[in-house]
Amino acid sequence: MSEVQTFESFGLSEPVRRAVAEVGYPTPTPVQQATFQTIAEGKDVIVQSRTGSGKTAAFALPLIDRVIKPARNVQVMVLCPTRELALQVAGEFERLGKYSELGVTPIYGGAGMQQQIDALKAGAKVVVGTPGRMLDHLRRKTLDVSNLRAIVLDEGDEMLSMGFAEELNAILGMLPKGRQALIFSATMPDAMSRMAARHQREPVTIALSSDNVAPSGIEHHAYFSASGGSVPDLLKVLEIEKPKAALVFCNTKAETELVARGLQNAGYRAEYLNGDLAQNDRERVMGLLREERVDFLVATDVAARGIDVPHLSHVIHCGFPESPEAYVHRSGRTGRAGRTGTAISLIGPHDIGNLYLLRLTYGIRPIERTLPSAAENRTRIEAARVESLVAAASGKVSDDALVLAKRLLTHDDAERAVAWLVDRFVMGVREEEAMPPVPSERPSAPAAVAAAAEAPAREPRANGRPPRERAPRRERAEPEPERKIEVHHADPKAPEATPGEEVGMESLELAVGRREGVRAGEVARLLRDVGLLAKSEVGRIHVRDRVTLVSVSAEKIDELLEVLADVKYNDVPVAPKRADVASAPETAAPVIAAETATAD
Ligand code: ADP
Ligand code: MG
Repeated sequence: MSEVQTFESFGLSEPVRRAVAEVGYPTPTPVQQATFQTIAEGKDVIVQSRTGSGKTAAFALPLIDRVIKPARNVQVMVLCPTRELALQVAGEFERLGKYSELGVTPIYGGAGMQQQIDALKAGAKVVVGTPGRMLDHLRRKTLDVSNLRAIVLDEGDEMLSMGFAEELNAILGMLPKGRQALIFSATMPDAMSRMAARHQREPVTIALSSDNVAPSGIEHHAYFSASGGSVPDLLKVLEIEKPKAALVFCNTKAETELVARGLQNAGYRAEYLNGDLAQNDRERVMGLLREERVDFLVATDVAARGIDVPHLSHVIHCGFPESPEAYVHRSGRTGRAGRTGTAISLIGPHDIGNLYLLRLTYGIRPIERTLPSAAENRTRIEAARVESLVAAASGKVSDDALVLAKRLLTHDDAERAVAWLVDRFVMGVREEEAMPPVPSERPSAPAAVAAAAEAPAREPRANGRPPRERAPRRERAEPEPERKIEVHHADPKAPEATPGEEVGMESLELAVGRREGVRAGEVARLLRDVGLLAKSEVGRIHVRDRVTLVSVSAEKIDELLEVLADVKYNDVPVAPKRADVASAPETAAPVIAAETATAD
């Protein structure tokens, strides 16, 4: 086993070789090397190999190449714990069997029964599905398995831990005696061995790195906090780790929704996936994830099992799992096939025992980290601001300014003077906040500097940019009569000290003003709570007699026009529109004023 085998050494038939080349697998993975001949010879196997090691192709290749015959009947059945995984496995069969005239039919609950029956009638040779629905078809005799040559239990341990033992035994009992039985599993609990003993004939056991089933190439980090997996903690962790895309695990369905909303409110592109979602919603969410239009998928173990999305760099255990096996499985969603990944755990006081168990069972010792305190957070943000301010100042400055700066810095009040400059030109604080807009009074702030100073605070939002498509926000789009606008802050601290981004702002005009009793702070809240803008996406707000002008992130303006279309302020429609350039004092030299305007 030491020398690296190539796909050539498998002696693959031409159609399979072509498909492998097209899929682009360079060499077989260890589990594929270790199992190919045995499966091709028709033997029963029980294979233990860590998540992400390429088990799907390990059974698909020999089955397609050697086991499946030209006859058009169901010859291979694969059982998977979830629909998503079934679809994934079906996809792998389709890709690798592209030139082998396979016919692959996914069979899972939640999709139309008749549709599946039709697909079966069309002559599928491979059926891939979840145990429940598969058993349904067998009992109704809509699935003829009399010619079945092989059955695969994929993620066997998971199917058992999900309570599918009864279905599995029933299905295995209904299959022809001569069939080959392949069991693939990341861990090998006793119940799995018992099932093997009952349904397999002299199985060949193939265990790869059995002492280390944890996916390799994964770094494990653990953050300790008193509250465990709360949304504010999660947001802090995201700021530190800056994952591009992550699968976020929660222990309950309700939490997935809550956490996804919290992430959305903080501006991240997040969706949730749990067993309560209708099938087409699940498919929609998975589609968004695959197309990288969603960066954070919040899911329960069951919903996310086996999901293989290559760009997931991080797995976050927002709720720490009860069992070490679950930790291994969840973490295996990242670091797929030789890629590296990071598994992050939020550890509350109740999770310490399970963390210890993880170490005992699999020798995984996450690097322990502590969440920054509010003060540390502040220091970090300040340091980043100074950095980017200095970076922004590397451009041209006039000699006059340099001379003035030198003198200024030797002055006794230098610190105060610099602070004043920072206030006016970086933070955008104005002296008379409530002053009506007079264009000439506007400080001509070096917008680039102001924007650059924001860079660090803005960064976590880089992946939080829409296209968002969400329905529920309209539900709270009506401000209540007394101008009370409910505030739903996922974490009031998260967008901390994030005054507006000045470059790329546009002016929005609302058809309500002082006459309607509009106040700037409330408009800011409306934009944040109804429009879901971050603090940094709201600039100056000018309340005039009949209209209010707001500078908002240019990227968001179209979305805002839509979202605010039906919103009323004290019973008067706000009728949003793009402000005329002439009446829009912000566009020329926008200044950060969000904090002054948003009387929180
Ligand atoms: P497992 O079932 O062991 O968790 P998968 O079968 O889902 O792993 O494979 C994990 C990833 O590795 C998939 O994205 C798959 O396309 C890829 N993969 C499989 N075989 C190879 C190979 N020989 N070379 C490169 N990548 C592979
Ligand atoms: Mg798998």
